[in-house]
Amino acid sequence: MLVVEDERRLASAVRRGLTAEGFVVDVAHDGVDGLHQAREGGYDAVVLDLMLPGLSGYQVCERLRAERNWVPVLILSAKDGEYDQADGLDLGADDYMTKPFSYVVLAARLRALLRRGARPRPAVLAAGDLHLDPAARTVRRGEAAIELTAREFALLEYLIRRAGQVVAKSELLEHVWDPDAIGDLNIVEVYAGYVRRKIDTPFGRHALQTVRGAGYRLAADGG
Ligand code: CA
Repeated sequence: MLVVEDERRLASAVRRGLTAEGFVVDVAHDGVDGLHQAREGGYDAVVLDLMLPGLSGYQVCERLRAERNWVPVLILSAKDGEYDQADGLDLGADDYMTKPFSYVVLAARLRALLRRGARPRPAVLAAGDLHLDPAARTVRRGEAAIELTAREFALLEYLIRRAGQVVAKSELLEHVWDPDAIGDLNIVEVYAGYVRRKIDTPFGRHALQTVRGAGYRLAADGG
């Protein structure tokens, strides 16, 4: 394991706690060293603080993923807002724990990450030349930037995460709109139309496909 933590007493405590759980642990005390060691050290996983001197944990994680380094990353931070968690996960982290924490739970979460391994988890989602970046909240078709409203973006994100699969309108209504929304499936059709007019029509493409009687499918090849 690599533990990136600038508070030295906490870093030592994490090292002792994880060593007691059977891990071999190195420590880096700032973001720059942390990034360097994560790149070079061949670690099975990285435990990453967010508030670090040099580079923040967000930046370390973002840079690793931009370099297609898929080492499992668990963010361990005092920041506990749900947006902080979402930001960390959007940047390609695999898990998130807040301080204070239990070493037993931390070790269990790390073992779960190790079982999953360093599979590619691109932070930018793609279907062919259609790209959606959940963190930057941007969409591109090739080099062309596409402006979507928040709801259109959420609809496209849900579909691009399941590219190639048929997704029922009722599932979209539940996940992209209010979970308790009493189903008016027409709203899904209306928004699918909006999205299609932005990501497909101007480019002469057909990524957002209607599957009659079933729902929608975003073509995995971008249409
Ligand atoms: Ca810190």
